Amino acid sequence: MKQIQIAIDGPASSGKSTVAKIIAKDFNYTYLDTGAMYRAATYLALRNHLTENDAAEIVELLETYSVSFGRADNGEQLVFVGDVDVTHPIRENEVTNNVSWVSAIPEVREKLVYLQQLIAAQGGIVMDGRDIGTVVLPDAELKIFLVASVEERAERRYKENLAKGISADLETLKKEIAERDYKDSHRAVSPLKPAADAIHFDTTGVGIAEVVAFIEEKAKKIIDK
Ligand code: C5P
Repeated sequence: MKQIQIAIDGPASSGKSTVAKIIAKDFNYTYLDTGAMYRAATYLALRNHLTENDAAEIVELLETYSVSFGRADNGEQLVFVGDVDVTHPIRENEVTNNVSWVSAIPEVREKLVYLQQLIAAQGGIVMDGRDIGTVVLPDAELKIFLVASVEERAERRYKENLAKGISADLETLKKEIAERDYKDSHRAVSPLKPAADAIHFDTTGVGIAEVVAFIEEKAKKIIDK
């Protein structure tokens, strides 16, 4: 059966990774969480007390401790830098609140985009991020741009954080999400924006199953063509 590339972009907590994971499982495709890769780079930068002015050092660290993925017995996707499991630390507030400056460094993007394209070359893929439809997979057969109100996204993140044992305050989260969106949309290199041929979907008040069904129907039409 024909295998396609599905690119899912959108702002923070718009539901991208939740739906992308389900679709990848249903289609037996690889799922790639590109945000986790930028988070892993941020983890490395913070661990080594680096700043915006240390682009070369951050890239060097990424070369020494390459970012990779694994799977836990319960099916959870694991993220590693070198052989250290950073799945949970990369979701902590410190990483979340610093990821935008790390992901704005062109050399970091170049390195991670190269890895993302290598992984995509292996077959059917569902990839989520900010620049997948525009930069990483410009020829993806299906491009989706998910949005949702800041209020709803902050509430989703609030529940996720509590479930993961990460401290959370709803108003702070709203502010942080809006700030991250602003920084991600206004950076010079590969800003968050929909590809010209992306299908927009507002997930405010829409359940996960409905979003998944919408995307899968579009994907099946392309596969069966
Ligand atoms: O998707 P997630 O919220 O985990 O992404 C974390 C951060 O990584 C984003 O806020 C953005 O700064 C960066 N990112 C990016 N390009 C991508 C995916 C994520 O710049 N393709």
